[in-house]
Amino acid sequence: MASALSAFRVSISRISPFRARQFSYPATSGLAHTKRILCSSSHSVSSSPSPSDTYSSSSSLMETNENTRWRPMCLYYTHGKCTKMDDPAHLEVFNHNCSKELPVTAADLEGKKPQEFDFFLVLDLEGKVEILEFPVLIVDARTMQVVDLFHRFVRPTKMSEQAINKYIEGKYGEVGVDRVWHDTAIPFKQVVEEFEGWLAEHGLWGKETDGALNDAAFVTCGNWDIKTKIPEQCVVANINLPQYFMEWINLKDVYLNFYGREARGMVSMMRQCGIRLMGSHHLGIDDTKNITRVVQRMLADGAVFKITARRSKSNMRNVEFLFKNRIK
Ligand SMILES: [Zn+2]
Repeated sequence: MASALSAFRVSISRISPFRARQFSYPATSGLAHTKRILCSSSHSVSSSPSPSDTYSSSSSLMETNENTRWRPMCLYYTHGKCTKMDDPAHLEVFNHNCSKELPVTAADLEGKKPQEFDFFLVLDLEGKVEILEFPVLIVDARTMQVVDLFHRFVRPTKMSEQAINKYIEGKYGEVGVDRVWHDTAIPFKQVVEEFEGWLAEHGLWGKETDGALNDAAFVTCGNWDIKTKIPEQCVVANINLPQYFMEWINLKDVYLNFYGREARGMVSMMRQCGIRLMGSHHLGIDDTKNITRVVQRMLADGAVFKITARRSKSNMRNVEFLFKNRIK
């Protein structure tokens, strides 16, 4: 039964790319038709589609080669914990290099305009009660290429173990990544420390920048992530709000002003642009990549990304919105 259901899900996905659950990491209960990767250690990642369940990517910008075939990301790898990098079967099924999925060609660069920032940090949090996932992609504003990825699952600070288990099962169980979540999630405070180390490695942040980003800006789909959720989580985690969260670019506002049409969210932007949704919607890492596809398309079309929202230095709760036309 589970297998039939799963097969149905796959067939639906081929018909309608905009249904929410179509490109799921298959749930562990529905694996009869999938090529389950058996791992000797705790490294069983999630289950994954068999090669026949994957499809050629029609990525954001152009049809390219075999390398762009969509595969689920190895979520142990994104946490620096993949122990199977020398296993060809594992490498065949799980993606370990997301820049290949987000390709750019010379033609895409022709219409690109000079930008105020050298790098964009595309961020899309998951978790309503507390943050559960913190994925960030660096996009080079000049080449439009993805430079690197930071991805951490976040262990809630104030929730009981029982509540966490229930929360994770509901949120990630159905896309088959609950186990990797439990194997890798760390507290938000540690995520922030590791994120800052990663930013510093890329020269995007450090003591000399006075806490702000160095020639980089966050890009989010909406204001909620940085305006609301990060400050809330900082309170829960008992840390100060980092200075680099003082301003950001809300993609929806740039989109509205550049194309002159409104999109309420990532899926509608992608639909309007004819970009195929890939991966699992509401798995943060996949959403971040999909948002990056929109960013790349807009850059290729000639959009200039400017800061859309900024906190008041005297009162961090006050946010000034810098665009007259914006999504409210
Ligand atoms: Zn791996």
